[in-house]
Amino acid sequence: MERDIKEILLTEEQIQNRIEELGKILTEEYKDKNPLVVGVLKGVVVFYADMIRHIKAPCQLDFMWISSYAGTNSSGNMVVRQDVSADVKGRHVLILEDIFDTGNSLNFTYQHLLSKGAASVKICTLLDKPERRKEGITLQCDYVGFTIPNEFVVGYGLDFNEKYRNLPYVGILKPEAYQK
Ligand code: 5GP
Ligand code: MG
Repeated sequence: MERDIKEILLTEEQIQNRIEELGKILTEEYKDKNPLVVGVLKGVVVFYADMIRHIKAPCQLDFMWISSYAGTNSSGNMVVRQDVSADVKGRHVLILEDIFDTGNSLNFTYQHLLSKGAASVKICTLLDKPERRKEGITLQCDYVGFTIPNEFVVGYGLDFNEKYRNLPYVGILKPEAYQK
């Protein structure tokens, strides 16, 4: 185990098993819809690469990059840094996300894609931290990998200061690691 990790919350095996289960559900849901599968960069890349291979139906891959105006925490003020390249109008969109935390990012992404005239927009998040949800966010994810407690997690795409994204599991950082 990486020395900065206090505890492994989700093992590689648990994650892969859950992705397989979600894949069966998503394959059934999207088998005749040629969905546009939109990943929100960059935390999602590891989950995205695994998830997409378990959707056994034709689909189109696309990505968005969003950020907030200020700070590392997602405030309500989000901007599109890089938009999807496909024409969204009339398409069935499936958003893949790493984590549903305060909800600011997903709420923004969801509204953005809906406003482009998508036929449907659904959300699949690997992790959901319901305790962190900001007041007033009513958005729900259609598919959730794991509901987790209110802990800051890293690995499997998730970072702290751009570190730990390549860990194959999701873990909780040791407090000392924040001081580095
Ligand atoms: P939001 O607060 O808008 O729901 O989530 C915004 C972003 O904050 C997520 O996409 C993710 O990049 C980051 N984030 C939220 N919670 C965590 C966490 O526990 N660990 C890490 N590494 N990033 C998080
Ligand atoms: Mg993210």
